[in-house]
Amino acid sequence: MQRTFILFKPDCVQRRLVGRILARFEDKGLNVVAVKMLRITPELSKQHYAEHVQKAWYPTLEGFITGGPVVAAVLEGLEAIRVVRDMLGATNGLNAAPGTVRGDYSSSRQMNLVHGSDGPEAAQREMALYFKPEELLAYEPTITKWMRAADEQ
Ligand code: ADP
Ligand code: MG
Repeated sequence: MQRTFILFKPDCVQRRLVGRILARFEDKGLNVVAVKMLRITPELSKQHYAEHVQKAWYPTLEGFITGGPVVAAVLEGLEAIRVVRDMLGATNGLNAAPGTVRGDYSSSRQMNLVHGSDGPEAAQREMALYFKPEELLAYEPTITKWMRAADEQ
């Protein structure tokens, strides 16, 4: 089992797509183990996007991500980090494959609706930035036995 951090960005909240996109992850078989709505501060943005802070386009990213409320969540499932990234599609919505979240809903390089952790280290770091350990709630859905075979762990 693996956990990954996702963030429904301000464009996603404003366009009222949070429910529809969260439903895609639920339909896939991922467990929602934490959800929270918040407003990202410039400080939190710099921590979240530490790898991009020095880039010329970082100020526009910070303006975007702090420009309205977001919804942060943690999803749990087999290979969750890769599965979620695959479901999100390429960074630029214009390049993202049809059927992916960004391919279906975004026509932008920046306003691509949802963030997903890009690896185990990022997932740990990002979950800790947004959630306290006790805010992550593990449970076993009763439907699991109809979602995959018992030996698929
Ligand atoms: P991803 O979210 O797919 O991991 P990156 O880590 O490359 O993409 O970039 C982080 C976020 O910064 C992107 O999701 C997008 O919102 C924004 N972004 C990426 N490239 C640019 C750019 N050239 N100009 C403005 N914003 C960008
Ligand atoms: Mg990235």
